[in-house]
Amino acid sequence: SADHWSESWEVDDLYAKSQEHVMATWGPGSYIRGAPILSHGEGCHLWDVHGNKYLDWTCQAICTNLGYSVPPAVLEAAYKQMKKLPMAYGGLGNTEIRVRLASLLSELLPGDINGFLFPSGGSEANEAAIRLARRYTGRSKIINHYRSYHGGSSAALTATGDFRRGFAEAAAPAPGFVKTMNPNDSYLFSFGSTDEERTAKSLGYLEEQIKCEGPNTIAAIMLESLVGSGGVLKAPKGYMEGVRALCDKYGIVLICDEVMVGFGRTGKFWGFQHYDIIPDIVTSAKGLTGAYMPLSMVAVRSHIKDYFEVNPVGWGATFQAHPVACAVGYECVKFMLEKDLVRHAKEVIEPIMQKHIDRFAEKYDSVARGRVVGAFGCLDLVDPRTGAPVQNFDGSDCSKPEAITIFRAALKENGLYGFVRPPMFHCAPALVIQPEEPWICLT
Ligand code: PLP
Repeated sequence: SADHWSESWEVDDLYAKSQEHVMATWGPGSYIRGAPILSHGEGCHLWDVHGNKYLDWTCQAICTNLGYSVPPAVLEAAYKQMKKLPMAYGGLGNTEIRVRLASLLSELLPGDINGFLFPSGGSEANEAAIRLARRYTGRSKIINHYRSYHGGSSAALTATGDFRRGFAEAAAPAPGFVKTMNPNDSYLFSFGSTDEERTAKSLGYLEEQIKCEGPNTIAAIMLESLVGSGGVLKAPKGYMEGVRALCDKYGIVLICDEVMVGFGRTGKFWGFQHYDIIPDIVTSAKGLTGAYMPLSMVAVRSHIKDYFEVNPVGWGATFQAHPVACAVGYECVKFMLEKDLVRHAKEVIEPIMQKHIDRFAEKYDSVARGRVVGAFGCLDLVDPRTGAPVQNFDGSDCSKPEAITIFRAALKENGLYGFVRPPMFHCAPALVIQPEEPWICLT
């Protein structure tokens, strides 16, 4: 049996014990068997236990926004907080660092978004946001887009619009979720040929849907500000403003899920700042701590904050506002601001990525098109013979399923690490990436 206390293990032992004991997430165990076992990271790079070096091309799950060389101030803040007060259960008391983080974030969010919960991850933040919206309105239904992802827990996965929702539905779906169409074109359907048309038609569809469902049954419309894992989709001009207006008209809470795009990913601090709106609730996670610590955020506007001053919030968790995670979040946000990483994403990363993505789209028949918003890019992969996407939106394979396996293997061989979510290929390097780094290993 393994020597649990020896300082290091042989690589073969690691793989053998992984096979014996480690379960994959989402897919079957085979998902993780062929994946590298990581040993360490530096800058934008990761190394596996064989010594292979990878450029982390999607910040893992679009989360390690600050790369792997943890800023010394962040390390120090975590250490200091550990020594000072390693834990405080939010149901009993408050901490200095929780107050300071909430205060800092309230300054970074526009308008009167000024009340904060700090759950531990994106799914949990969305669960809490859904709970708040339902309790605030006394209504039950939540409207979400198809082609969205809101998390792996029951309600968040039922809220999800992509094929992963099936895992929740196959068990016992959480009740009260209604789907509407994403206003962007898919491979099968389009609301129109111009943004004006797409916006007008999709909003018309949405309003009719609200009326058919019964406006006084709808607690919230919950959308990703820009669709993340579904393919880096910015809403057509005027759409989000129209959704905001419908929410105002029918007393519906607007929740913007910024778990992936918050904290600078799209070249603005918040994704919803690409539009002229103020959401009622904003959820975010990942980039808040550079993913160094599990911490998320539910930020609410003053009318909701005031409501819950006198009514029970009705949501909580042991690790809510964990002080060490808050300390790390606070220093990461400070680091982002000091290094002006949002500007870097927009002015330095976006043009370089745009150039490469255009080149790929031009050069390869298997790339239908590409798009970039800040440090968030995406290529649409198609079968060059038919022009059809290499995978359907329901997660099923199209004509040549083995192509994706070959593609994944080629990325690994060429030193790229990251998630491949066909029919899209995401490009999302750390926000600290510099122009002189080897951006694209594939040519
Ligand atoms: N919402 C969005 C938009 C996401 O992209 C994700 C994760 O990728 C989540 C929610 C779920 O976050 P987590 O995996 O931290 O629970």
